[in-house]
Amino acid sequence: MTQALTLFPPTRAAGLERLNNFVPKAGQDYGAGRNFYAPAQDPKAVSALSPYLRSGILSQSEVLHAVLQRHSAKAADRFITEVLWRSYWQGWLALRPGVWDAYQTELRRLFNEVQTQSGLRQRWEAACLGQTGIAPFDDWATELALTGYLHNHARMWFASIWVHTLKLPWQLGADFFLRHLLDGCPASNTLGWKWVAGIQTIGKPYMATEENIAKFTDGAYSAVPDLAQTPANIHAPPHPERQPLWQTGKPDPSLRSALILHEDDLNPLHAIAAVTTLGDNISLTTTASQTPWQNAPHVEAFRKNALSDARHRLAEQIGTAGPCVDGAKDLASWAIKSGIEQLVTADAPVGPTKILLDSYDKQAEGPPLVRVRAPLNAAAWPLATAGFFKFRKHIPDLLEGLDPNT
Ligand SMILES: Cc1cc2nc3c(=O)[nH]c(=O)nc-3n(C[C@H](O)[C@H](O)[C@H](O)COP(=O)(O)OP(=O)(O)OC[C@H]3O[C@@H](n4cnc5c(N)ncnc54)[C@H](O)[C@@H]3O)c2cc1C
Repeated sequence: MTQALTLFPPTRAAGLERLNNFVPKAGQDYGAGRNFYAPAQDPKAVSALSPYLRSGILSQSEVLHAVLQRHSAKAADRFITEVLWRSYWQGWLALRPGVWDAYQTELRRLFNEVQTQSGLRQRWEAACLGQTGIAPFDDWATELALTGYLHNHARMWFASIWVHTLKLPWQLGADFFLRHLLDGCPASNTLGWKWVAGIQTIGKPYMATEENIAKFTDGAYSAVPDLAQTPANIHAPPHPERQPLWQTGKPDPSLRSALILHEDDLNPLHAIAAVTTLGDNISLTTTASQTPWQNAPHVEAFRKNALSDARHRLAEQIGTAGPCVDGAKDLASWAIKSGIEQLVTADAPVGPTKILLDSYDKQAEGPPLVRVRAPLNAAAWPLATAGFFKFRKHIPDLLEGLDPNT
């Protein structure tokens, strides 16, 4: 726990410092070095900004804006594209939220299987504890458990070995990541695992190879025998039909409003800007509900401390920080007791926070809830209709409308 939080202090000041140090490297250096594995302690070419982006401590718009102040869009193309992969995955899942629900249902079924089937439990435990005998895999399992971070290429190799070589269910691997990653994100994680398994881009699994691991670890792992040569046979239903995005709105300026702060957006400037007077605020904690097991202590500590940092910043802007709750009923009773006429919040992508906000909407009590979508999400999500190649063509337009204050 200490190592993860020492490497990634859960404050906006630490996120901004990391961003400032990284910006000079976001051009050609990033493009050339991005695929080479590096640990969190010395991320080399990559930014290791993901814990700050995932929690909205830093917004994607401000990160892209900072990079474009220093580099041309062409020079920083690779980095910009990666940051917008995140928007693409979020948009893809927002248009097909049933994929998250199906993953959660299957995960809970597997949770029972792990309790009742000792063979599965032993193989799953060995993988999670880094005791499979596959050296790099075991090292990455340990690294993730200690630091809360893994380089992108290591995530790909790890997931590929989990699914195709160890033949464990991808949902258990996705859960292992979500419980340990400081950047654990329902969209990037679920769809990243499905992509490796070959059921996201259907029929195109990602196969880790000995040569590729040797090359991109600079020879640190030059012999990794016994990797699967053929993909695991995974059955998955076809992608669900696309749904319209859920409603967002505009707060009514005449109502007494309170802001809801949540773990998916810890610097919700666009939501604050949408209301003229905010007298109160309340915070939601939702990460615990993402898994039937328990999140690693460093994940809970990062979210808790990052929320506390955000509450202090917010208190400076709009007054005393209100309580922290984790259920729709508590949110409603607080709002009623405080005489709040309207709740305002930054819109949350598909995941536990959105589920809590949806359950608030479904109950009869409490004032209306208005979700304000960040402009970049509002512009990018509807574009994730098909593959990334199609989405990518819109990147110049997305950059054109970038507002660093959102
Ligand atoms: C199986 C698997 C699971 C993953 N799970 C997550 C997850 O839970 N949360 C998460 O944020 N990312 C996830 N990723 C994507 C990616 O690995 C991480 O975003 C990246 O490694 C974070 O490190 P960084 O900040 O140093 O990235 P950098 O290379 O510095 O990239 C900058 C930012 O761009 C975004 N980004 C980069 N690569 C990707 C990508 N492939 N997909 C989506 N966004 C990307 C991230 O926000 C990242 O912080 C996963 C990838 C795989 C293959």
